[in-house]
Amino acid sequence: MAEIILQARWLVTGVQDRHTPIVIDDGAVLARDGVIVSTGTLDAMKILAPTAEVRTYPNHAMLPGFVNSHHHVGMTPLQLGSPDYALELWFASRIPARRLDLYLDTLYSAFEMIASGVTTVQHIHGWMAGGYDAIHGAATKVLDAYRTIGMRASYCYAVREQNRLVYEDDEAFCARLPTELGDRLRAHLKSQAMPFSDFLNLFDQLTTENRDQRLTRIQLAPANLHWCSDESLVTLHEKSTAANVPMHMHLLETAYQKEYARRRTGKTAVRHLYDLGVLSPRMTLGHSVWMTEEDIEIAAQTGTCVCHNCSSNFRLRSGVAPLNTFEKKGLTVGMGLDEAGINDDRDMLQELRLVLRAHRVPGMEDDDVPSCPQVLRMATEHGGLTTAFGKEIGRLEEGRFLDAVLINWNTATFPYQDADIPMLDALMQRAKTNAVDAVYIDGELVYADGRFTKIDRDAVLNEIADLLARPRTPEEIARRDLGRAVFPHVKAFYDGYLPEEPGRPFYDQSSRI
Ligand SMILES: [Zn+2]
Repeated sequence: MAEIILQARWLVTGVQDRHTPIVIDDGAVLARDGVIVSTGTLDAMKILAPTAEVRTYPNHAMLPGFVNSHHHVGMTPLQLGSPDYALELWFASRIPARRLDLYLDTLYSAFEMIASGVTTVQHIHGWMAGGYDAIHGAATKVLDAYRTIGMRASYCYAVREQNRLVYEDDEAFCARLPTELGDRLRAHLKSQAMPFSDFLNLFDQLTTENRDQRLTRIQLAPANLHWCSDESLVTLHEKSTAANVPMHMHLLETAYQKEYARRRTGKTAVRHLYDLGVLSPRMTLGHSVWMTEEDIEIAAQTGTCVCHNCSSNFRLRSGVAPLNTFEKKGLTVGMGLDEAGINDDRDMLQELRLVLRAHRVPGMEDDDVPSCPQVLRMATEHGGLTTAFGKEIGRLEEGRFLDAVLINWNTATFPYQDADIPMLDALMQRAKTNAVDAVYIDGELVYADGRFTKIDRDAVLNEIADLLARPRTPEEIARRDLGRAVFPHVKAFYDGYLPEEPGRPFYDQSSRI
């Protein structure tokens, strides 16, 4: 039985409401076998566990570990050659991406996440070629990487069964291309195809294989409305209900997706999902930039969660999500770094600040704009609720896993911070990753003073550098040629896709952020 007591200058156990963090000055937390037994003063914890190992952090704030609720890949698209196009063009620009061993790739972004205080990630995997065995092998490498570094991961393989490149049937799109190019694209898209039943089999197999794992759990992910049929959405909902696991689904990321839903269903995407009966607290809608007031109302009434991907929405020209309305309606909103943040990395501290700043609309009322406790709750408790770990993470309180980040106040605020600013407000607005001195996951110290305790970061990065220094393989060259050839046709497909609205562009958001 491993018992540990961590004590810090401030222990932030969670958030009470959007203006009030729960802070214990000189607070301590006692954990047994990775699960929190109690919180309070150091003396009180010592009475409960006289033989526990005690570690003290006298200059630090201890916060619940952050949850990156929407993540896909290790190396960033920019690193691999895709600039920040509008989402629909960016899909085409991703075709040429180089292939890197997924174990190394997953570690690459796990290093960045943990170093910025992330302890749990929602890994939405997908877009793999090669069929069931190849995809199962890829999933296993991703999960192995997280277990090796000691990070918690809620894993899902995104179900895509149609409209794989544009918002149109694959065959119809390929048929409109020059014959030779259409054939090449057809073959490329088919290589990613898998029978729907195999997506369910994959979930079952991975669930069985991860049953005894503490760090990795499996959930479901219909990738987006255009990628799934209504029948599959209903089946996935039934599966998630029977297995009691959450689902994460991209939705309404762009104005083009809003228009796609209107063309397919004659209503909004959210109303359609509601009518299918697939909305519930088990469902998280990623992005949700283009929700209407009624959509938000439906999400509130059904307890449907949202994941706010602020950096991604800026980078891929998706628009600004109506976060302030989400908050007013009481939605559970997690936050995700998606492919990468605005610094092209996975710096959650930076993302907290971006969310804090991006929704500061003109006006004078405090309640109209995000607060620090609100954003912290998004990055911890609410994020946790969108994962398969639910209420077992997200706060530092009895019964939950000890997943915590220790931020050095002196490093963050040197040479001065006026005490009239609340501690959490100063910390969230000023702490950079160099102030993250320790990260605990499952009660274990996985990152301390810039070093990972279970794996040699430098060795992994050098291996990645060596592998990618090699020239492109013939397969990679062929894919690069395909991506470049297809790109203008994808752009042409969306020409005139959005309806004209007199006097106001379809994508105008000025009245709703
Ligand atoms: Zn995504």
